[in-house]
Amino acid sequence: MTEQTHTKRVFSGIKPSGGLTLGNYLGAIKRFVDTQDSGVETLYCVVDLHAITVWQDPKQLRYATRELVAAYVAAGLDPAKSILFNQSQVSAHAELGWLFNCVARMGWMNRMTQFKDKAGKNAEKVSLGLYAYPSLMAADILVYHATHVPVGEDQKQHVELTRDIAAKFNNDFGVPGFFPMPEPVIEGPATRVMNLRDATKKMSKSGESDMERINMTDDAETIAKKFKKARTDPDGIPGEVKGLDGRPEARNLVDIYAALSAQSVEAVVAEYAGAGWGVFKPALAELAVAKLAPISTEMARLMQAPDELDRILGQGAERAAAIATPNLHKAYDIVGFVRSR
Ligand code: ATP
Ligand code: MG
Repeated sequence: MTEQTHTKRVFSGIKPSGGLTLGNYLGAIKRFVDTQDSGVETLYCVVDLHAITVWQDPKQLRYATRELVAAYVAAGLDPAKSILFNQSQVSAHAELGWLFNCVARMGWMNRMTQFKDKAGKNAEKVSLGLYAYPSLMAADILVYHATHVPVGEDQKQHVELTRDIAAKFNNDFGVPGFFPMPEPVIEGPATRVMNLRDATKKMSKSGESDMERINMTDDAETIAKKFKKARTDPDGIPGEVKGLDGRPEARNLVDIYAALSAQSVEAVVAEYAGAGWGVFKPALAELAVAKLAPISTEMARLMQAPDELDRILGQGAERAAAIATPNLHKAYDIVGFVRSR
């Protein structure tokens, strides 16, 4: 088979594993919206199969799935333009994931830092799914032959693993270019929003304490309180960006401000040079509320009509499957599975 060229196609996903955070918004959702009108096909998935790699209460999972699609739509994703769907409704993900379990090597999986972070000292007790999850993520991307994957910094290693899996499959079966080498797209000042209480960790929806994150659905008072209590150092905003070096907490708050206001970090530092936290934190809270409140209001409205959200997911799944299934079947032929027609 000769080398194939792949048309640009964007795929990304978020787990319905709890309430969405400002990190999810800035690192993922906002950037999905920015990409939607760039003239390429965009697929944004609610990756429910990934969510159950750790325990999810079934009722909560259903709620979080609908809330995530509501967030997609409220933030500006248009189901007529982007394909919005949940992963479990397109079985090709799980099927290609199995092939990739047989392509990926144990040594590769052992190097995944996110597994080490999430499993911690508990590695013997976590699910096999949590360990295998990166190969399912490779399938999510490659089943669409997607070329670009907008994600936060924390997902870079998984997209690189996806490239390794694609390369090994193409090479093992002598099908150069069958799967593309997808590129992680990690851009902007907020590719890694940090935990508000401990800036050595990223902000996560499944983190322990609610005070460490801003939820997209937090009200104005809660957002103000969380930023007020966010850990900082005694120095305020420096005169230049270099003055943020070695100050992860300060850097984080300035990065968040820059991302929310669509400004560079330089511009934010120039505007607030010399200001103390007593000035900067309330300004940051006000900005966050101005950006998030319209979205959370719309999310709440959409959540009143769960049938409509389910309909969006179902229609998206049909469109997604129309791309994924033929690609899966090509992979099955390549592997040597007999398929009776
Ligand atoms: P969990 O704790 O359940 O893993 P999460 O908050 O890490 O939840 P994911 O569903 O794992 O969210 O990731 C969804 C997307 O959000 C990914 O593209 C990821 O890179 C991005 N993302 C997650 N956290 C951050 C963050 N703190 N800063 C920027 N992007 C983030
Ligand atoms: Mg995560």
